[in-house]
Amino acid sequence: MPSLPGTGNKIIRIAERMKRLGTETAFSVSEEARELASRGKKIYPFHLGDMNIRTPSRIIEATKKAMDNGKTGYCPPAGIPELREAIAKEVGETRGLKLTKENVSVQPGGKPVISKFILAFMNPGDEVLYPNPGYPIYESQIKFHGGIPKPYRFKHGEEGFVLDFDFLEKSVSSKTRIFIFNNHHNPVGAELDERKMEMLAKFCLKHNLLVLSDEAYFDISFSGRQKSIASYPGMFERTVILYTFSKKFAMTGWRLGAAVGPKWMIEQITRLNVNEESCSNHFIQWGALEGLRACREETKRIISILRERRDAACEILKTIRGVEVAKPNSTFYLFPDVTEAMKNLGFTDVEEFRKYILETTGVSFCTRKHFGTPMDGEEREYIRLALSGIEKDEIREGLLKFKEAVENPDMIRKWREQRSARF
Ligand code: PMP
Repeated sequence: MPSLPGTGNKIIRIAERMKRLGTETAFSVSEEARELASRGKKIYPFHLGDMNIRTPSRIIEATKKAMDNGKTGYCPPAGIPELREAIAKEVGETRGLKLTKENVSVQPGGKPVISKFILAFMNPGDEVLYPNPGYPIYESQIKFHGGIPKPYRFKHGEEGFVLDFDFLEKSVSSKTRIFIFNNHHNPVGAELDERKMEMLAKFCLKHNLLVLSDEAYFDISFSGRQKSIASYPGMFERTVILYTFSKKFAMTGWRLGAAVGPKWMIEQITRLNVNEESCSNHFIQWGALEGLRACREETKRIISILRERRDAACEILKTIRGVEVAKPNSTFYLFPDVTEAMKNLGFTDVEEFRKYILETTGVSFCTRKHFGTPMDGEEREYIRLALSGIEKDEIREGLLKFKEAVENPDMIRKWREQRSARF
């Protein structure tokens, strides 16, 4: 805090609630990587879920045209009607729902749907179930607004990660009001099958929970039919879908998404828009509209690039001693178990392991610790590799270096010697 002149005997302070606000620590890993790069180190960026794929040119052109045509003033707080209708059509068709523009509130990204949902539907003291590991903003926003975070978890079996239903049942109480769900899950890549989705829908109905269905990766799916919890009987009326343009059209920096749900919930979300940003950026909504009308093929192209990257990464990871990886059917993340690799190298802290790999090879990634507060009883150690911002050849090159750093005892010995000389 700076010392401010003219404040008398009043103490200038930061609001108490700021102590409860968390962060997305993946951004601090980016900083670390950037710092190393500025000193000349070659970095293999597996840390941030940003995309190095270009936004389809039709979207860019339509946005430029909208600016030229004067779409530079405010627009309605819930978004331009044309885009709301197009999102209603798209989400309706892909989730088997009958929607109109009244079911859509356009937002400056998918992320703001999380905080707005919590602000609109959670009272202080309410319990909120959320995935852990999971997108760190859930935990941050629950705590920030005075809720009680109730994490649920995944089991790691032969077929990859699956939701631990027994644990979920044990975590729910009469104070639990909200269930946050992220099928096509960041970071573990879990997807529920038909039977589990039905079980989950019944669980939400039985405990009378409102649901935030984070569908940020719904479109980034490699095979099979994607599922939304909102499609199950009785669920739509209590569910807000987080929808985003960030991934399907490689538009992370444009900041455009939407809340999609029943009218009674969407109206509350839009009231927050009026207070917070008036409206989402106007002219890019025309670009996104063009995307929904004409860029299906581009999304397919993005998915095929991401599939190749996933396959290339898994092929190498599977050969690394002490590393186990499940191949996810959606998202662009891998969440390998590095417990044995760490043991072989003498690491007990996954953050130290991360630093070792970063400093010796330039391979930069996040760890389990960046995705919510680790829970009691966790025995395995995981890292997260994002494949959205790194080309296939670089993935191969980086992971071969990673393999060497894990398997070559000379490298770890040298790093430890250099470290003790530094401190
Ligand atoms: N949910 C999840 C699970 C995410 O991983 C992300 C971004 N990486 C978001 C929501 C928010 O995405 P955006 O704000 O770019 O739409």
